Amino acid sequence: MHNGKITLVGAGPGDRGLLTLRGLEALQGAEVVVYDRLVSDDILALIPAGAEKINVGKASSHHLVRQPDINRILVEKAKEGKNVVRLKGGDPFVFGRGGEELELPAEEGIPFEVVPGITSAVAAFAYAGIPVTHRDYCSSFHVITGHAREGGELSIDFDALVRLHGTLIFLMGVASLGKLMQGLLDAGMEPSMPAAVVENGTRTNQRKVIATVSTLESAASAADIHSPAIIAVGKVCALSDRFDWFDSRPLHGKRILVTRSDSSPAKLAPALQKLGADVLDLPVIRTEPLGEPLPPESLDVNWITFSSKFGVRCFFDALCRSGLDTRALHGIHIAAVGSVTAEELRRYGIIADLIPETFDGEHLAQALIDRTDPYDRILVCEAKIAKGGLMKKLGEAMRIPVRLPLYDTIPLPLRDPETVRRILLEERPLITFTSASMAESFAASLPDMDFTGFHALCIGEKTAAAALSLGFETAVPPEATIDSMAQYISAHPAY
Ligand code: SAH
Repeated sequence: MHNGKITLVGAGPGDRGLLTLRGLEALQGAEVVVYDRLVSDDILALIPAGAEKINVGKASSHHLVRQPDINRILVEKAKEGKNVVRLKGGDPFVFGRGGEELELPAEEGIPFEVVPGITSAVAAFAYAGIPVTHRDYCSSFHVITGHAREGGELSIDFDALVRLHGTLIFLMGVASLGKLMQGLLDAGMEPSMPAAVVENGTRTNQRKVIATVSTLESAASAADIHSPAIIAVGKVCALSDRFDWFDSRPLHGKRILVTRSDSSPAKLAPALQKLGADVLDLPVIRTEPLGEPLPPESLDVNWITFSSKFGVRCFFDALCRSGLDTRALHGIHIAAVGSVTAEELRRYGIIADLIPETFDGEHLAQALIDRTDPYDRILVCEAKIAKGGLMKKLGEAMRIPVRLPLYDTIPLPLRDPETVRRILLEERPLITFTSASMAESFAASLPDMDFTGFHALCIGEKTAAAALSLGFETAVPPEATIDSMAQYISAHPAY
């Protein structure tokens, strides 16, 4: 049997943007991913759906899977011919036991590679506004394990550390924080030496406590700091307020549930995350092309109108399936509900003749009526489940609408409804909907949930009407675009 391969990948400290390109490449090609507790959910979400996931996570007191067993799992899976990724928080060789995990593969001649990661020892502080070195304050930084042996004893030469005058960084030190600080003080460190602890560094729930070597323990316990957290001692810690950029982002720490279609990549969630929001990305619907050729009467029209980007794509697929191309649209006017739909049309070489000023179905209907004559035939491309508002309006104005259902919208149940329910009740987050079907599908996953008083930002009036009837308090941004939704939220952070 041919050997597989083991790739030891550093996942970075948590923020998915801090995974390296090589790391992402390795993950995308993985057949088995062995990961532990320090790897953030955002990174775990990048594991391909078909890959086997093995959680060997360790809680600091009890090891879920013992180290020799982890080593054996890696080798066994590689021997099955699998492409194995061993995913570790931060950098695999910085207190990550990466070296130990390579011993067996090296012995057994199993090919392996190492993808370094961004270590929390530097990154957590960068996100807390603390440069680990600064020419004015220190000329070295030192990374030390604060992990105590059984019985609580530390084997650290505090005298040597104090003499270095560098920035001292302690990993795995929350449990022994008091002893670490006392050790430094006993070795003669100034009690006023600045010190910091950063919990969940680089993640949306990052917290930091800035104090001095003599007050850090009480400050950290007052703030109820827990692992994973990392400690720094040194003058650079005093820069934290001045260089604070992470905590001062407009939506810092704001909880938002973003619903979306599983059929298109997340757009609003990353935009809000960049502004600092703590986003839960929730696919709640799936759109599927009906996959049929165009009925012959479809092109015997004066206008074609599109209500979504996905509709544009499905239309051109159907055109192709009918053995036709863009030339078949010669002489037909084209309308798009908004800028995103118009943008998609451009990709097919078509400049929309009409986009309503306000991007919604109502305004599209009115704009079409203004531009057409009675008895004009208008092909209405839409979802199978469309409620028929546009068709009705056009018909009432004596136009001849021809309906073309192109895709189906299928509700997707929430993957983890209990967690969503808990977050709703405990954190009362803002929720966003970009279609009525998303609001309906979201609510269907949470039967018995009372949405009264929950705020929902909805892309347009139709979506808002659906959310309102489910009990939400709704708001609609000035334009029916993702950008406008993101701007609305950042302009109303308290909303
Ligand atoms: N290989 C990892 C470190 C593993 S040791 C790295 O390079 O980052 C585990 C310790 O790392 C934790 O006890 C904590 O001190 C630190 N740590 C890891 N990720 C962290 C994070 N996101 N925020 C704060 N500390 C973190």
